[in-house]
Amino acid sequence: MQFRSTNSDASLVSFRDVVLHCLPPDGGLYVPDRAMDIRQLFLYMNEETSFSELVAAVAPSLLEGGLNPLSASRVAESAFNFEPELIRLDDDYSLLNLCKGPTGHYKDFGIAFLAAVLEELHKDSPPAGSPALVLAAALADTGVSMTHAFSGRKGISAVLIYPAEPLTAIVPNGDFASGNIIPIQVQGTFDDCQRLVNEAINDRAFAARYNITSANTINPGRLLPQAFYYLYAFIKIKKHISGGLAFSVPCGNFGNFISGLYAWKFGMPVNGFIAAMNSNNVLGDFIKGGTFTPRPLIKTNSPALDVSIPLNFSRLESFYREAPAVMRNIVHPASIDDELTLQTMERVWKKYHLHIDSHTAVAFAAAEQTAAGLDWKGNVHTVVLATGHYAREAELIRKVTGETVAEMQSLQQKIEPAAVISPNLDAFEGIIARHFQ
Ligand SMILES: *Cc1c(COP(=O)(O)O)cnc(C)c1O
Repeated sequence: MQFRSTNSDASLVSFRDVVLHCLPPDGGLYVPDRAMDIRQLFLYMNEETSFSELVAAVAPSLLEGGLNPLSASRVAESAFNFEPELIRLDDDYSLLNLCKGPTGHYKDFGIAFLAAVLEELHKDSPPAGSPALVLAAALADTGVSMTHAFSGRKGISAVLIYPAEPLTAIVPNGDFASGNIIPIQVQGTFDDCQRLVNEAINDRAFAARYNITSANTINPGRLLPQAFYYLYAFIKIKKHISGGLAFSVPCGNFGNFISGLYAWKFGMPVNGFIAAMNSNNVLGDFIKGGTFTPRPLIKTNSPALDVSIPLNFSRLESFYREAPAVMRNIVHPASIDDELTLQTMERVWKKYHLHIDSHTAVAFAAAEQTAAGLDWKGNVHTVVLATGHYAREAELIRKVTGETVAEMQSLQQKIEPAAVISPNLDAFEGIIARHFQ
């Protein structure tokens, strides 16, 4: 599979190059160039197949030439010591639990895969001189996830760029001299951090000199592996369903959602995708055929979905450019408010004896709303993506269900920055240059 920019069809780039450079020079984002049907690889897998077996089997074909079968199984083994889990609730609904990674949210999958792939790609041709640098604008969760995924990876240093609010993370060694996780605090906002990452990558000479790429979702090396758990859900559920299959995905920046669409492009038989949004229903109009107009942000109780301009919008748009009629039939938007979110957390606990977090509850309520509207009961089975571990929201769970659950511990440690810089590219490049001569 080759990649092109969302801004042009002109040049095609290999998987290796998109992972190592991650932003096209024309200001777009990389997307797969065309549909790639790998159905024959997973259609006949059975329920016994493990997640890493699935990844090792499908990755080499997807990433033609980027990973051979041997390196793909090495990557799968070294990335995933956690698996997705499909929980069948009844005839109409399943939960795809994506919360068993180190930070308890689905983003652990993409970050873990990217870290393992980068190590593998650099093994063949190690960068000369300094280690390859992986930059990520990181709030607490991404920081923890990155630290787990990148610690001890050979030939790579992960640079976490975070805003003035304290980053809590487990960083074994935030020290330039010996650790390979480097937290840099920026005296500015999270947007400043994100801008710095993009600017450093777009300073092509600087990026080439220090072998710089990013671990944010601008890198397709994070989105593609998320398609694997959709395929995994498919092979686990297919025997148990007679009708159609749909997925309900809680959407903020639409990274997870795009990955589902990739799984469909790879040949996964599916009838629908529900784009579950909270009151920040930013892409509802666009999906229904209107235009995208950014709106002011509303603060809700599912904060990871509080996004006013989804980072992956141009990737979604490119799907609509290619096949507008298909997209209209396959994608169903839904918007769920705070009250229904809490009611759904409570109802799921009472009905199935399972705790779900607020983001998962948005997707669950959206699935129920869509199924009722389209008369799916008994016809279409919906897999609801559980994207966040409920123990990340122990307080909310107690309020809603009256149950006491232990708070997730791995997110609690504080770290010291290796450097504090002002929010401009010169300051950032200066600190990198000083330490990686
Ligand atoms: C990040 C996140 C989301 C939203 O995913 P996007 O890819 O940004 O749409 C949903 N739920 C949880 C728990 C998250 O952490």
